[in-house]
Amino acid sequence: MYKTDTIVACATPPGRGGVAIVRLSGPEARDIGQRLFKPGQPGPLKAWGLRHGHALDPGRQESIDEALAVLMPAPHSYTGEDTVEIHCHGSPLVVERIVAAAVSIGARVAERGEFSRRAVFNGRMDLLQAEAVLDLINAPVEAGARQAWGQLQGALSQRLGLIRGSLVAELAEVEANVDFSDEELPEENSSLRLERLETATTDLQALLDGFAASRRSREGLRTVFCGRPNVGKSSLINALLGQGRMIVSDEPGTTRDAVEETVDLGGQAFVLTDTAGVRETLSKAEGLAVAAARQRVLEADIAVVVVDGSLPLDGQDRQLLAALGPGGGSIGAAKPAVLVVVNKIDLPDGLSGDEHNYLNLLDFSLISTSALDAGGCHNLAQALPLLARERGPEEGQQIGISRLRHREAIARACDRLRATISLVTHGGGAELVAIELRASVDELASITEPLDNEEVLDRIFGEFCIGK
Ligand code: GDP
Repeated sequence: MYKTDTIVACATPPGRGGVAIVRLSGPEARDIGQRLFKPGQPGPLKAWGLRHGHALDPGRQESIDEALAVLMPAPHSYTGEDTVEIHCHGSPLVVERIVAAAVSIGARVAERGEFSRRAVFNGRMDLLQAEAVLDLINAPVEAGARQAWGQLQGALSQRLGLIRGSLVAELAEVEANVDFSDEELPEENSSLRLERLETATTDLQALLDGFAASRRSREGLRTVFCGRPNVGKSSLINALLGQGRMIVSDEPGTTRDAVEETVDLGGQAFVLTDTAGVRETLSKAEGLAVAAARQRVLEADIAVVVVDGSLPLDGQDRQLLAALGPGGGSIGAAKPAVLVVVNKIDLPDGLSGDEHNYLNLLDFSLISTSALDAGGCHNLAQALPLLARERGPEEGQQIGISRLRHREAIARACDRLRATISLVTHGGGAELVAIELRASVDELASITEPLDNEEVLDRIFGEFCIGK
């Protein structure tokens, strides 16, 4: 439900800093703002211009802090409503007093993402752009920020809008025939129609195909460390975290059973996961962990297979390497890029000449490390970005879909389009064609437009922070 009261929240991060911004939005924002802010020179709040003065507690008529204030009148504000921002010192106490003062004269404390939700309802942006705001704020590395900025500017909305526009035009034509639905669709139209429907399907399929690459630039490459216990997986992860820039993610919903750390290596984000050793015979509890590990390897972008260079290879090492190689069916069809790391090279070499040959002949990148030696992991920190680049260019993926929500809706839209094509091919009646085509159009609309589905909206905006 879209509420039309006036909301208030601190728009800057919690904590102490140079400046904090308290934001008011809604029909009373201007009035409440005028009462909260006393300008140095008499006069009202200025539209699009900062005024200097004091933040005021209107109850006690007491000055709270020196402040600047700006009015952004509807409809050209972030939310599309009258908005007032008060810039004060970045003190949690000052912020709290200004927010409390606003509430005492009629404002309500905003819910998570409520400013952005209002922006969507007022047509200032669509859902894709609201999600892009969140992605931009949370982007772990530059590639992700660039992608989010493109989406925020409407690149993806436009691409989907063009496809949807062509389908809506088709639908209008088909529906014009529904009244005469005893007849089949005129023959000369159907080949043209098929061509247009197939173009739309190809365009949507291209978006689906680019999903993995777009997700990689948004979140980072999923890099799973696997291998027998004690080969040095966690030591190597720790060493890598020491070499790169740690990225702290506070995105909700990322709680997993495996420990994940995101690190920036050469401008690319890697989400590092340690796994329970991928082995065959284990106790039941361990077996579950191993099954989960297998699944993570299967879904990974990069699998780092660690072997202990101070010991001979054993069956488990070979099994894992074979499963990840060409024709190795046991891990799964979608294979990650593989980097083999021979660790513990500070210890005497335990691998035979044959085993070295075996590793060299595998079609995988191969490096040697010592996790205990600070310099010994440098080549691992270099090898991962190289492998990432080989995995495929990220350029050109800037107009891609990177969320499951989009992928699922587009996949459903594609299914309905294929059903439409099949109906047209087999001379289905206009009424049936219209039903399928409309379903496809509706799926596409659900990606960008405000839906009446409160649950989906709550989920999307629940990921935002309070002042956004
Ligand atoms: P994991 O079970 O594969 O995660 O292995 P750990 O990282 O826990 O390491 C197991 C043991 O091997 C620990 O005692 C580490 O200190 C040791 N270790 C890890 N890497 C190296 C290495 O490169 N050289 C040596 N000498 N010991 C290592």
